[in-house]
Formats: sequence, C-alpha cells, structure tokens
Amino acid sequence: MPRVLLLLPTTTYRTPDFLAAAERLGFDVTVASEEASTLEGLNPAGLLTLDFENPAAAAERVQEFARRFPIDAVVGADDETVIASAAIAKTLRLPHNPAEAVLAARHKPTMRQRLEEARVRQPRFQLFPIDEEPSRAAASVSFPCVLKPTFLAASRGVIRADDPARFAEAWRRIGKILAAPDIRRRGHPWSREILVEEYIPGVELALEGLLREGELSTLALFDKPDPMEGPFFEETLYVTPCRLSLEAQTSVRETAARAAAALGLRHGPVHAELRITPEGPRVIEVAGRSIGGLCSRTLRFGTGMSLEELLLKDALGLDVTREKRESRAAGVLMIPIPGAGRLEEVRGAAEARAVPGIEEVTISAHLGQQLVPLPEGSRYLGFVFARAESPERVEAALRAAHRQLEFRIRA
Ligand code: ADP
Repeated sequence: MPRVLLLLPTTTYRTPDFLAAAERLGFDVTVASEEASTLEGLNPAGLLTLDFENPAAAAERVQEFARRFPIDAVVGADDETVIASAAIAKTLRLPHNPAEAVLAARHKPTMRQRLEEARVRQPRFQLFPIDEEPSRAAASVSFPCVLKPTFLAASRGVIRADDPARFAEAWRRIGKILAAPDIRRRGHPWSREILVEEYIPGVELALEGLLREGELSTLALFDKPDPMEGPFFEETLYVTPCRLSLEAQTSVRETAARAAAALGLRHGPVHAELRITPEGPRVIEVAGRSIGGLCSRTLRFGTGMSLEELLLKDALGLDVTREKRESRAAGVLMIPIPGAGRLEEVRGAAEARAVPGIEEVTISAHLGQQLVPLPEGSRYLGFVFARAESPERVEAALRAAHRQLEFRIRA
C-alpha cells in the first residue's frame, strides 16, 4: 500500500476528514504535527513531529524517516504547512511547488508583488513596518482601505478603515494581535509589518481548484451571499454552484488561473478569493492550499468522493482532473462568534438539524471554551452543511438553521 505523509497542524479542523479519506483509499498514513505526541514511540511509522516553521529541518527529518518508511505522497492542510510541504516533496523527489511560489502564496505582500508584475487585477497596496507612525502611514494611503497582517488566515486582523482616526485604531489593534504570544513565539519578521490595501467593493467569490503541471482545473466556485463590507470580514456562507452569469464565472476562473501562474504555483490545491468589479474580477487572495475549516464537507465528487480523497489521489499522481462535483447544490455556514466570553450553552442544534436540506450541524467549540470574536479570533463556533436542488434552497436552509441556534456566552 502507498504511504502518505499528512501534515496536520494541531489547530487544523481537518484531521478526521483526511484520516477517513486515507482509510477509505486503503493508504498507509504517517501524520506529522508540530507538537510531539506521547504515542510517537509506540507508533514510529504513524506519527512524526515536524517544525512546519522550519521547512529545511522538516525536509531533512522526513528524508531520514523515509529511509525506514518510504513515503509516496505528501499532503498538507492549512496555510502553515504550505512551505514545509513543498520543501519535503522536493527532498523526496515528488511533484512540488517551487520555493518562491509557496513563499508568495504565504506572504501577502509578496503575492501582491507577483500579481502586479503579471498585471493581474487586484487592489492597490502598500507595505509598512509596524514601527511606522500610523498617522504618517494614513497620510500616504487613500480611503476606504483595508489593513491586515501579512501572513495570518481566517480574516484574523483584517480591518477596514474609512478615515485616519479609524486607520490608527485598526493599526493599534493589529499591533496587539501581532504581539500575541502564539504569534510572537514564531518570532517571524512578518509579524513586524502591516499591509494596507485599497478597499474593493463588490460581491465576493471563492474558487477551489487543483493544479497539475501548472494547469488549473476548477473543482468548485462558491458564492458568498452575505455582504462582506467590514470593518471586520466574517466568513459565513459559502454556496455552490455559483449563481453569477457563465461569462462572469469564466472570467473568475481565468483570473484565478493567471494569479496562480503569476505566483509560480504548479501543483496541488489552490484556494482563491476574488471580488467582482465593473472592470472584472480582482484578486483578494490566492493560497496554495485547499479550503479551510470543515468547509470541504460541502464538496463531493463522482460517486461520493470527498475533497480529501481527491487530494490524496492527486498527490499520488493519479489523474483526478476529470472528476466532477455532484450536480446538487451545496453550502456551508461557518457559525460566527457573536461575542467574547465563555461558551456556556448551545441550544437549538436538534431544531437546526431538522430544517429541510440540512445535512449536518457540527458545534466545534466546546462548552467552557473562551470565545474570541473577530478581528482577534480565528475560530468558528461550528459549521452547518446543507444540500438541496438549488443554491437558493441551500442558502435558505442554512439561514433557517442559523436562526434556530442560540449560544449563551458569559462575558
Ligand atoms: P485572510 O487570509 O486572513 O482570509 P484576506 O486578505 O483573504 O485575509 O481577507 C479576508 C477577507 O477580508 C476577504 O475575504 C475579503 O472579504 C476582505 N478583504 C480583504 N482585503 C480586501 C480588500 N482589499 N478589499 C475588500 N475586501 C477585502
């Protein structure tokens, strides 16, 4: 049986889905995570500790490991593993993205630079050192704008500002996020900078795609039917298939393909976010990873294959580009955290599950957990999944299920 190395950070939501996929395919699995497991000694082929922040060391460690337990494919989850995954695949002589490409996909200012060089439409941008005086920085940008950290995910620290006063406030708030212990521990120079972008109004779409030798195939296009106008940018609804005109969808695909090529990405999953403007789609972000959270559960291919199965097969070199998403509409609601505090009670989950079209309600936060809303937080209360005959019905089901849910949070 082929052995697949799964890079699963401790914070990922996706461990069960990747493990289930490997089991269904009958693959042997090694799970690598950044925190040592006490079980590693008992299961030397199955568990490995890797520092994802140090790709060269991770690659060396895997090379050594692979002499005992040969590895046939490497698959990573979430942004944190993208650079290490490429370095490991290179060492093992497996198909991989070039180091410069994964760097650009991880570091927003580098991504912006590459897109600019390739003339891919995107917001205007400026990078500032965090020590800059915010009032001076504000004097050199136009409003409205969006301030953001350069390497975080899930909209953490992404804040819209419409005037210099709110710009300074957002700046200080991002400064505090970047000084948080978990980020400081990484000690990265990227935590000393703030990216400021022109605010692009317009509806937003997400494209889930797969690259094979530089060729991008679209696995799904998602509408994000809740307006995201700031000041914080909560992800809530993702619904597929997309309801935009076929012409607009084609131009989104083309722009995403040009963006991936501009970064130099060639292999594996791509997740892109774009906004539709009168001049055409503009790229908000291109990442060299698959969709985050538990959202991949919206996707099924062929006769019920999960996205994780598809990614594992792809990493083994099997051609999955002809796999089609099922024809039914599907969607997910990422349940946002309404306020800070301790989660004391969740009500209405059974009622939410009973809404026609709802397939699953997963509350991923646990009782007693300290909840942190955006812009400081990066987790969700949970996820609701729906499937129906049309995207309109999926959206209505997700909204109805959300209305059933009640969260008691003690501030
Ligand atoms: P993250 O990687 O943390 O998700 P993004 O840069 O993708 O950060 O921003 C998160 C969300 O914030 C986007 O999906 C979008 O809704 C909004 N956003 C970010 N940048 C802009 C921008 N320049 N104009 C308009 N909206 C933006």
